[in-house]
Parts: sequence; C-alpha cells; structure tokens
Amino acid sequence: MSKTYIPSIGLEVHVQLKTQSKMFCACPVAFGEETNSLACPVCLGLPGALPVLNEGAIRLTLRTGLMLGCSTPPVVKWDRKNYFYPDMPKDYQISQFDLPLCLDGGVPLYDLAYPKDAQKTIARPGKVVPLTRIHLEEDVAKSTHHATFSTIDFNRAGTPLMEIVSEPEIDSAEEAVAYLNSLRQILVYGGVSDADMEKGQMRCDVNISVRPPEQKQLGAKIELKNLNSVSAVRRAIRYEIERQIDCLETGEPLIQSTRRWDDDAGITTQMRTKEDAHDYRYFPDPDLMPVLTGTMLEEVRPWVPELPHEKVERFVRDYGVTPYDASVLSSEQVLADYFEKAAAGATTPKKIANWILNNLLAVLNEQQLGIADCPVAPEKLRALVELQESGQISNLQAREVFADLFVSPDQDPARIAQAKGFEPADTGAVEAFVDQAIAQNPAQVEEARGGNDKMLNFLTGQVMKLSKGKANPKTVSELLHARLRG
Ligand SMILES: [Zn+2]
Repeated sequence: MSKTYIPSIGLEVHVQLKTQSKMFCACPVAFGEETNSLACPVCLGLPGALPVLNEGAIRLTLRTGLMLGCSTPPVVKWDRKNYFYPDMPKDYQISQFDLPLCLDGGVPLYDLAYPKDAQKTIARPGKVVPLTRIHLEEDVAKSTHHATFSTIDFNRAGTPLMEIVSEPEIDSAEEAVAYLNSLRQILVYGGVSDADMEKGQMRCDVNISVRPPEQKQLGAKIELKNLNSVSAVRRAIRYEIERQIDCLETGEPLIQSTRRWDDDAGITTQMRTKEDAHDYRYFPDPDLMPVLTGTMLEEVRPWVPELPHEKVERFVRDYGVTPYDASVLSSEQVLADYFEKAAAGATTPKKIANWILNNLLAVLNEQQLGIADCPVAPEKLRALVELQESGQISNLQAREVFADLFVSPDQDPARIAQAKGFEPADTGAVEAFVDQAIAQNPAQVEEARGGNDKMLNFLTGQVMKLSKGKANPKTVSELLHARLRG
C-alpha cells in the first residue's frame, strides 16, 4: 500500500423494542411461538385494515433519544416506504422519513466496550459518535428460503423497530465494535431493549467508504448486510476497508452498492447497486395522524436512568474506587446495584469493590453464574469484608468464610468465622508466640532489626505457624514491628 487511506464508517442499528404488543396492532410480541400464530389483518397487511399507534413504543424511542442527547421535533409523522417484497404484503413499510422522533445526539464510546485486544491502543478515548436520527418503524415478516420454495412467518411482522442512524464518523472496525457494545449497554440500562445481536434483537448494517487523504468528499458508500454478531461486524469492516483500498490502488471504480458478508468465507459479495431514497417514493401515511411530542417528552424524562458513564464518575467520586474498577462495576446495572448495596455504610467501599472484582466475580465465573444469581446477599458480603478490615480474620480466612457463605447464604459471616476457629487469638497468647519466634530465630531477628522487611515477613510467618494460623497476621506484624523496630 503506497499511501494511507481514510475509512468513513456509519452504522444503522435496528433495535427491537421491549413492548408487549406490535407497532400498529394488538398482536403480542413473542418469540418461539407457533408459526403465523401471532398475526391479524393489520400485520398481515390485508386491504382496508387500519393501523393504530403503539404509544409505548413511541415513549421508549423518546427515552432512548433523551439518553443519547437527541432533540425531538414538536410534531413527528409517519410515512410509507414503498417497495415490493413477499415479507411485506401491503407493499409498503410504515416508517418515518423527514420528521423522525429523534435528531442529532451521540453515542459515547466506553473504553471497556472496545475489543479486549484493542483497549490499550484506543485512538480517541472519550470519543462520542454523532447520530443523524432515530426513527420508529415496523419490522417485516421473516422469510426462510428452502431448496425449491420459501416460507414466511408473520409472527415478527409489525414488531416495533427503532432505527438508530449514525453519522459516517466511525474511523475503524474497533470503534464500530465499541459503538455497538456501548449502545447496547445504554439501551439495556434504559430498559428499552435487551439488544442481543445473537437473538436478532439488535441488527446492524454498515456503510463504509474509503478515500485518499487529499480527497475532501467521501468515497462511494457501500453498505454491508448480513452481519449477525459483533465479531462479524469487526471482521467484515476490516475486510471491506482492505478490499476498497485494493480497488482504488488498481483503478477499479467503486460504485454505491450493497454487499453481503459471508461469515464462513470471510468475504463480502455484491448483492445489488443501491437504491436512493427517491426510489421508495416516501409519502405521509394517510391512515395515521402526526404525533405532538411535547407533553409525552416531559412524561418520559423522569424515566431516563443514570447512564453507565455517569455512574462511573459517581463511583470514583463517592466511593473512591479507580476509574477502571468503576467501569467494570458499571458495565451491568445489576452488578452496579450489587456493589452499591454492599458499599452502603461500609467503612471502606473501595475494599468492597476490590472484593467483588477480585473474588466474587471469579467464584461466580467458576460456577457459571451471573451476578443476578449470586446467592450471597450484598449485606453479607459487606459484613465479611468488615471482619477482614477490622483485622479479625485474614484475607485467606475471609475467602474460606466466603466459600461457606456461598453454599449456605443464610449464615452469618462472623458465626462462620467463629465456627472455623478464626477468632483473633487473645493478645497475651500471640505475644507469647512472638517471644518464641524471636528466641528461635536469632539470625533472622538481627537482619529484621537492621531493616530487612523480608525477614520481618518471615518472622510473621513463623508466629502464624506457631498459632496454627489462628492469629491475625496484621496484629502479629504490628507486634513484631513494635518489638524489633519500635
Ligand atoms: Zn397484528
């Protein structure tokens, strides 16, 4: 490659909203039901059937807009996007054209949302990808192509679908991954959607163009389809950037078109040259009234949750945890809630955070459990960490107590420690062990007196052995310090 080319990437993300019923009829939204059992004249597109707006879907879209800093026009309307396809028998999809529910705004890219191998080399930390718009439309039916025929399932037809369109200001495959993961995190926080790509709740088309640095306007926009996972998005973008650069280098013209990602072969292939918006002959749907958004926006505003990055800032400020730890704790609402419950009223919330991140998550991981299934109540964890912090039990002992607590979560951490004999030995007895250790190890004592910390640790270990592990290491080390250095 002779020069550096500039890729410009934009994402169109379709999100299935968490509503009970479909966008324009009362049919339930559900998965795994019998084929074509959830359909009525409206979502089948029968002539004369009249659509009725699902207000819940509009509210969820407005909530998303508020979370992402969008503005909302005072009046929004519904338009027909005309095209023929068997999965859309009324020959048009109800969508929004020039007056969508949300405009502008942006998606913040979180550090931990980048692919793991790219987190150390983030080009623009704290970047916010600007959005063009968010609009609401209906999903189409699902076609399945068999060897000699095709079948269509209308259960999905009419499911509320929110489309989030970004500006082409994503610079790399890694930023695209961060965009999708951050967006998903925010949508889940807002209770808008579960946004699971593997389940088709979030689908993504990628627009991508490449231009030489001396060229101002963007190159030909090429759209990628059939991207079914975040890792497919990353691989497809990397492949397509290389392919387009090759074309530019060899003088092959790039034309606006749609290409299909083949995940097994790891390549994109041409599907069609792209229709422009005028090919769809958008016009206002005469069956639906425009919506006045003012009052609804004010009603939705209190439902906007604290967002992940806002939580991170607060955790750092109020609990004294590191920004990295705060990001991990805020990556899931349930985890953040667990931490806050455990940290409430704790002497050192930072220690609680450490315990969760270093021990609790590891144990859950081993058991293949999520934080939502954690048997140990946050209050019990706090009690355990306090036991350790007050010097009553050692770190190792605390882990043993936790293992028991995990199996019988109703027990009291202090009781478990007591039953295991993890009581802090009385100071008199510990002092006797300290005397004994000093008498038995004259050479090491000499070195420890001279400032050798390793020897001090060695002597602590000797006292621990003499106490059969029951003394508290913190107390022992304090006693030794006083005797040898005091
Ligand atoms: Zn229906």
